Amino acid sequence: MSNGLSADRDFNCDAAVIGAGFSGTLTAVHLVRLSGGTISVALIEKKQRFARGVAYATEDLDHLLNVPAGRMGAYAKDPEHFLRWCHEHPDTCRAAGVQNVLAGSFVPRKLYGDYLEEVLENTRRRWPGLQLLQEEVADLRLRPNGQFIVEFVGGRTLNAAKVVLALGNFPPGDPWLRDRRFHNSRRYLTDPWAQSTLEQLSEQGDILILGSGLTGLDLLLSLAKRPATGVIHVISRRGLFPQPHALSTPLPAFIDENALPETAREALHQVRKASKQAAEAGSNWRAVVDALRPSTQKIWQRWDWVERRKFLRHLRAYWESHRHRASSEALAVKKNLETCGRLACYRGRVLSITENDTGLEVEFAEFRRCEPKRLQVSYVVNCTGPECNYHKLKDPLVMQLFLRGLITPDPLFLGIEVGVGGIIYDVHGRRVPNLYTLGSPQKGRLLETTAVPELRLQAEGLAKRLWREIRRSEPAGVEAGFGNPALAYEI
Ligand SMILES: Cc1cc2nc3c(=O)[nH]c(=O)nc-3n(C[C@H](O)[C@H](O)[C@H](O)COP(=O)(O)OP(=O)(O)OC[C@H]3O[C@@H](n4cnc5c(N)ncnc54)[C@H](O)[C@@H]3O)c2cc1C
Repeated sequence: MSNGLSADRDFNCDAAVIGAGFSGTLTAVHLVRLSGGTISVALIEKKQRFARGVAYATEDLDHLLNVPAGRMGAYAKDPEHFLRWCHEHPDTCRAAGVQNVLAGSFVPRKLYGDYLEEVLENTRRRWPGLQLLQEEVADLRLRPNGQFIVEFVGGRTLNAAKVVLALGNFPPGDPWLRDRRFHNSRRYLTDPWAQSTLEQLSEQGDILILGSGLTGLDLLLSLAKRPATGVIHVISRRGLFPQPHALSTPLPAFIDENALPETAREALHQVRKASKQAAEAGSNWRAVVDALRPSTQKIWQRWDWVERRKFLRHLRAYWESHRHRASSEALAVKKNLETCGRLACYRGRVLSITENDTGLEVEFAEFRRCEPKRLQVSYVVNCTGPECNYHKLKDPLVMQLFLRGLITPDPLFLGIEVGVGGIIYDVHGRRVPNLYTLGSPQKGRLLETTAVPELRLQAEGLAKRLWREIRRSEPAGVEAGFGNPALAYEI
């Protein structure tokens, strides 16, 4: 995709969206459409491929969506948009190994990436005010006039009246063990979706996967297709894999919006009770979890920090394994690996990882066992899920934002301090003008803010807000500003 910048000039735009995963892409698409192409929007992505982000960049056709096709439309008002797109693109579906996509089908994530790419490309063709810039943003400077200088790795800059941080999911955090030298070992792998990771894991020897969520399961699916080289060990704190999807009769919302549960314990009680009733009525707990979804953000916001902490400590792992489910085909592959002795799963806690001549020695405490256990493995792969403690991130842009005081972590270290509509608070608790976010960074405020059904609402809402604000204010320096020299002053 095109890069609208040239090396010797500065550029202006009305809005710069940093990150072209689902969130950034849909924000930019909505914004440029709302404006009828009258403003300039820069969508900036550090990776080569736009619109896919981490989730939909995989080429492995066994990596499936965990939400059925009928609910994955990019637009909140049209949840079946993706399903119709599948029907209109039978050749693309066939190439992704699927035929006859139904509303309840779980299709490859790659196919969803193809869809998002087309949504973006169609918008860009129609509204040239949308520019795609393949650049990594390294810094963001707030000018006295409330606008931003967006600085790319390499030093070039872009002036933007509004900036959206759509940075999404970061790589998993490294286990914080006493001896952390293994962090630098070539045998410790942190990108479970990279082709190079799979190639390394094809070498002889046992391997250890840390984490048994959807990422760990993805890796198992990829490894299952490769010739057996050794045993795959999986260690996770709770020993919980995602629960399987299954048909369930949808239920109406069962939580009374005027009497939301006051505590995590009360919420658990209500879910258990509703699940029992659902089972008696011929449905199951899945319908209850799905019916709870529209209320989860409200419940979360009702709780104080203490209650939220209790939830995170005691219930989160169970909630996530029931909420983020996997296809039964994927779980059958896992079961099969276990049955034929290629996979061993443990509930436990890693105590140490030490590199030696033959690989990595891992010591771990298994749940309810006194004696620590030891494994000798060739590789350890970190699949513990995205790091959300921004203080631990080594991302250059995030570190700059901290240094400038433009962002600050939320009290639970789940994301950053944000307010209604994705506004951002600085280190002093003041609103940063013209800076917004959506998606994962809002976890502390919203808890549930990572899946398409939530993100598409946020993207549309944020675009509407930006469009309203841009319309109200003066044009950002110049009209449809790409290619025009910067007018404003530097700090
Ligand atoms: C493996 C996986 C599978 C998932 N499956 C599903 C699913 O089936 N259904 C569902 O609803 N949800 C799923 N999700 C949830 C997923 O988080 C969302 O669906 C969505 O993809 C998140 O999009 P995002 O744009 O917020 O973040 P991301 O996809 O992480 O995108 C952020 C983008 O920002 C870019 N970026 C970051 N920093 C910079 C910078 N400094 N400069 C330029 N670019 C930058 C990154 O390169 C990245 O492309 C899955 C998540 C994962 C990780």
